This record gives sequence, C-alpha cells and structure tokens, in this order.
Amino acid sequence: MEQQTRRLRMGMVGGGAGSFIGPVHRMGAELDGAIELVAGAFSQDAVRSRQAGESYHIGADRAYANYEEMMEKESKRADAIDFVCIVTPNHLHLPIAVAALEHGFHVMSDKPATATLKEAQTLEAVIRRTGLLYGLTFTYTGYPLVREARRIARGGALGTIRKAVVQYSQGWLSNAIESTGQKQAVWRADPKQAGLGGAIGDIGVHAFNLLEYVSGRQVAEICADLTSVVPGRSLDDDCNVLLKLDNGAPGVLFVSQIAAGDRNDLQLHLYGDKGGLHWWHENPNHLDLNWVGKPSEVLHAGEAYLSPSTRAEFRLPPGHPEGLLEAFANIYRDFGNAVRARFSDPAAPLSDLVPGIEEGLRSMTFVERAVTKNRVGWVQL
Ligand code: NAD
Repeated sequence: MEQQTRRLRMGMVGGGAGSFIGPVHRMGAELDGAIELVAGAFSQDAVRSRQAGESYHIGADRAYANYEEMMEKESKRADAIDFVCIVTPNHLHLPIAVAALEHGFHVMSDKPATATLKEAQTLEAVIRRTGLLYGLTFTYTGYPLVREARRIARGGALGTIRKAVVQYSQGWLSNAIESTGQKQAVWRADPKQAGLGGAIGDIGVHAFNLLEYVSGRQVAEICADLTSVVPGRSLDDDCNVLLKLDNGAPGVLFVSQIAAGDRNDLQLHLYGDKGGLHWWHENPNHLDLNWVGKPSEVLHAGEAYLSPSTRAEFRLPPGHPEGLLEAFANIYRDFGNAVRARFSDPAAPLSDLVPGIEEGLRSMTFVERAVTKNRVGWVQL
C-alpha cells in the first residue's frame, strides 16, 4: 500500500549547472507532486555533480560521481530510485539507458533516442529483454492541444489526410557559436557527441514525430536536401525534406537552426479532404480548425468543449497560460502512472500517448536515411 501512495523516486543523469533541459525535466516531473528527484549523476565531473545535487537539495550520498556508481549504489538501497531520467548529450543516451535497464530501472530519456539507428536497435533489444518501461520526451506530444489535434485527426474529422507540412525553425546557430564554447552548441556541432545528425537529429526528430503523432499516418518515403550552411560545421544546420505518407499523401518537413531571428518556431499544418488543422508552438494553447464549406473554429486551452481527456491535461482554467513545463508534466504523469501500475502488475503498459522505443526507432530511421541518402532522391523509410 505504501508503494501505491508514495512519491516515485527519480534519478537523473545530466542536468548539472548551466545545462538546459535537465532542470526543465525536474520541474515537469515534480509539478504534480507524484514524482521526486532523489538522486543523480549530474555531470561527468564528480565535484560539479555534488554541487548540482546540493542545488537540487539532494542528500550528498545520492549525488554520485558518475552514472555507473548511481546505478550500482541505488540498486542496493531499500528506497532505490524507480526510474532514471537521461538528459545528457546524445552519444550517452544508449550506454546510460542500457546501464539503467540492466540494473532494473525504468527509463525516461530525452531525444534523440540514441546517436545512430544501430544504437537504437541495440537499445530496443535490451528494452524487450528486460521488459522495463522506456519513455522518450518528444516534448510537444505533452501539449494538451497537440493531443486534441491527434484526437481530431485520428478520429477522422479532417477526412482523409492529403497533405502535411511541418516546420521547426530556430536561429540560435546562425553563427558558429560552438567556437566560442557555448555549452549547448559545442556538443551539438560535434558528430562524436551529437551523432549522425545536426539539426535533423536535434529538432528534425521532434518535427517528424509530431507529424506522425498527430496524423496517425507514417512517413513512407523521403527526399532529403541537408546543408551545413555555416562555414566549418560538419553536421547539417538546415534541412528541407519532401515526404510521402503511407497513404500516398505528399508532405514537406523543413527544419533549420540558421533561420536568423527565429526562436522555437514549430508548426504543424495538416490537411484532409474535409478540413485542415494548424498548431503553432509559440501560441500553443490555440488550435485552428478550418473546414471545407463551414466556418473556421479556434479551440482554446482549458475550455469545456474540449474532449474530456484533453481537459484532464490542463491544470488551470481558460486564459491562464500553460506551456513547456506542463507539457513535460503530462508526459511524466502518464509515465509515472505506468511505473506505479507496475507495482501490482508487472506487465502494465505505457500509455500510447507517451512516445517510446518504437517512435525512437522511427525517428532514428528518418535521421539515418536523410543523412546517408542526402540529395540522392526518393528513399524509403
Ligand atoms: P546541456 O549541454 O545543456 O546539458 C547536458 C548535461 O549533461 C550537462 O549538465 C553535462 O554536464 C551533463 N553530462 C555530460 N556528460 C555527462 C556524463 N557522462 N554524466 C553525467 N552528466 C553528463 O544539453 P541540453 O541542451 O540540456 O541537452 C541534453 C539532452 O536533452 C540532449 O540529448 C538534447 O537532445 C535533449 N534536449 C531535448 C529537448 C526537448 O525539447 N525534449 C530540449 C533540449 C535538449
């Protein structure tokens, strides 16, 4: 009984001082009070890990020098962590996830699943063998109106999907800031740490996943044109990809990190034969629906006319803006529910609203094909 009511215990790898997404995970995971960060290996440097532990109010004995020590020591504790959250650069996702699974811990990893497709396949085999839960924070799947869009599109209201356009443009890598030592840019520009893809692996996977998540269609073929625009950069920073969906519908995915002045401009436009929908990350609590032969609609966050499951994904009444932290919190809430269900049912599944290794494999297949078949024409996924 104590197990059913206590807070779930999370151990984090990455997320040290000056890092971006680790603290966001911590806030999202803890938002509903059902999960608590209790341990971590927050940096590859033992002193910095301990300092980060202090800043997170973690006991000194649980701010570990490295992730191997965390897995080893936590697995021997009566109050061990329930799952590991991975927020390091990409090349470490596989070894950390494998170490966690082999020690019996569920895993919540940030994207991309791994640095390469082959690594994702290795990871899938370990997940299957251990039978443990694996969630992937494709963050945008946690936004209530993205989930409402999914319910609308998959429910058939738009009719047959006939065109998809997804754009993710940022401008923060317009110059070679990696050469100035900017923490987030340095590893993203280094193939040894970022993996096979530059922008395509960093934000292209979000765009790809969002399209499939909402539409319910899979991308069957791509024709990629990837460029490294900024001189000296070996990985792509601008990507233009034509798509063919599995029902033959055409689509376009464009991703850039040299779109000067753009911030985090993720947009999805989906068109069926009865109507189209538009969702824009920079205005995430609105969903535009345009109908053939009927007036357009704008759905607003929190309103009673949204589907009951979407309403349950909001924490505040209409007009009180929710955003990125709440999107993370929704993913963690669904993941945490599955972890808790495992206390009494060892086969309890993860909600299909939370991306897992299948989505990880699909997105890594997309990256691998786009990079290795760049400018060769149409290729199958
Ligand atoms: P970052 O550089 O800001 O942080 C990385 C952290 O990992 C740092 O604290 C670093 O010290 C730590 N680290 C590195 N090696 C380590 C090791 N061996 N052991 C323990 N810690 C180690 O990077 P970031 O921007 O926060 O990105 C981290 C991951 O999250 C990346 O995989 C990135 O793709 C992903 N990400 C996802 C989103 C999203 O929207 N879901 C957004 C940003 C980043």
